[in-house]
Amino acid sequence: MSHLVVHQFPCLNDNYGFLLHSEETGETAAIDTPEVAPILRELDRKGWRLTHILNTHHHFDHAGGNLELKEKTDCTVIGPRDEASKIPGLDRAVGDGDEVMFGGEVARVLGVPGHTAGHIAYHFPEQNLAFVGDTLFALGCGRLFEGTPAQMWTSLQRLMALPDETVVYCAHEYTQANARFALSVEPDNEALRMRARAIDEKRRKGQPTVPTTIGLEKATNPFLRPASADLQRTVGLEGADLVDVFARTRQLKDSF
Ligand SMILES: [Zn+2]
Repeated sequence: MSHLVVHQFPCLNDNYGFLLHSEETGETAAIDTPEVAPILRELDRKGWRLTHILNTHHHFDHAGGNLELKEKTDCTVIGPRDEASKIPGLDRAVGDGDEVMFGGEVARVLGVPGHTAGHIAYHFPEQNLAFVGDTLFALGCGRLFEGTPAQMWTSLQRLMALPDETVVYCAHEYTQANARFALSVEPDNEALRMRARAIDEKRRKGQPTVPTTIGLEKATNPFLRPASADLQRTVGLEGADLVDVFARTRQLKDSF
C-alpha cells in the first residue's frame, strides 16, 4: 500500500479538487486550486495541513485559489515554468523532465502543451499516479486554446506511454457528455459502449467517473485512438496521418 493518499472532492460547477497526502511525512499538496473554500474545508475535515500547491496550468479554475491558500497556509507553490508569469504566488517553476519531491516520493514533470502553451502533468511512477489537469479527460481531451493539434497529439502520446495501470486524475467531470461524442465517432467500439453504460449508471447514482486509467482511455477514448479504422471511417479520413485524424476529431467535438 502506498502511503500517498488522494482525496477527491467537487469544486465549482464541474471541477474536481484533489488533495494528495503523505501518511509518512504528513505533507499535503493541493493539485491545482479551483476553489478555496472547499479545499480549506476538506483540509480541516481530514486534519491535514497544506504544504504544497502543484499547478498544472494557469487557467483561473486551476490557479485562482493560489494566493489565498498560500497566505492562509504558507505552502510552497510549484507550477509550470512556461506559464510562470501567470501562476499567482509561484515559488518554484518546473518544466519537462524535472522532478518534484513530495512526501519522500518523486513526481516526474511531463510537458504536455496544447490546452495551454505551458501545461504540465505530474507523474508519480512508483505510485502509478498521474495528475493531468486539462490535457486528458475521461473519454476526452482539453480544448486547444493555446496549442496546435500536433502539439496536443504529441502530449497525449506521452501520456499514452505511461503504464496502462496508471491512475489518471483529470480535473473535470465531463465524462457523460464525452461519452455521447465518443459513441458518435466510434460506434462499433464494444469496450466504449460498455463503458458508456457504466458511466450512465455511475452518474445516476451521483458517483464520480474520475479517476480513470491509461489502459481504459487507450481502449475507449477517441482522442487516443486515431489509429482506429472505425474512427477514421466515421470522420472521413481513412488511412490519413494520425495527427490529422486527431485534429479532425477534436474539431468535430468542438461543434458537437
Ligand atoms: Zn484549463
